Amino acid sequence: MKIICVGRNYKAHAAELKNEVPKEPVLFLKPQTAIPLKNQPFFYPDFSTSIHYEAEIVVKINKVGKHIAPEFAERYYQELSLGIDFTARDLQAELKAKGLPWEKAKAFDGSAAVGRFIPKESFPNMGNIEFQLMLNHEQKQRGNSEDMLFSIDQLIAYISQFFTLKIGDLIFTGTPEGVGEVKKGDHLEGLLGGEKVLAVDIR
Ligand code: MG
Repeated sequence: MKIICVGRNYKAHAAELKNEVPKEPVLFLKPQTAIPLKNQPFFYPDFSTSIHYEAEIVVKINKVGKHIAPEFAERYYQELSLGIDFTARDLQAELKAKGLPWEKAKAFDGSAAVGRFIPKESFPNMGNIEFQLMLNHEQKQRGNSEDMLFSIDQLIAYISQFFTLKIGDLIFTGTPEGVGEVKKGDHLEGLLGGEKVLAVDIR
């Protein structure tokens, strides 16, 4: 399986990192090893002193597809969750400044925490799914899929032009504003549609 991540899919988040609002989705990949082993905390890596959380709606692909038309994209997923795209912001800034790929800052071991999946039937409207990220019980991010620059179905259609989607692939659909640092000892919780689906300890 692979993890396809979307960058800058919320206007206010693009602005907070002083990035341009993109005309088409910004994509990058994480390997399967980015998913933490079951019940493992997030282990703060040695190569960074500025790890950021980015809470994102995660879509699980349940059917093989390539060149998927946007109007059929909804047939390719059945479940959603909330994930954290952990980012070594200091390393990413260094790599960006040199025009180098981001992978070391984005795709390292444990960088793709994913919560419990919920059937999409639980959400009456894919274009209105609310989510929150709590850091030590304080709300840090609040987002809604209605603010995505590219909707879930548009993303699936776009991604499948480049990468064949396979069963079990995950799409991280981008983070809203409010990203920030974690420290060892922090506790993160993620809510999707008001339901707690994710809990991660930082060690
Ligand atoms: Mg992200």
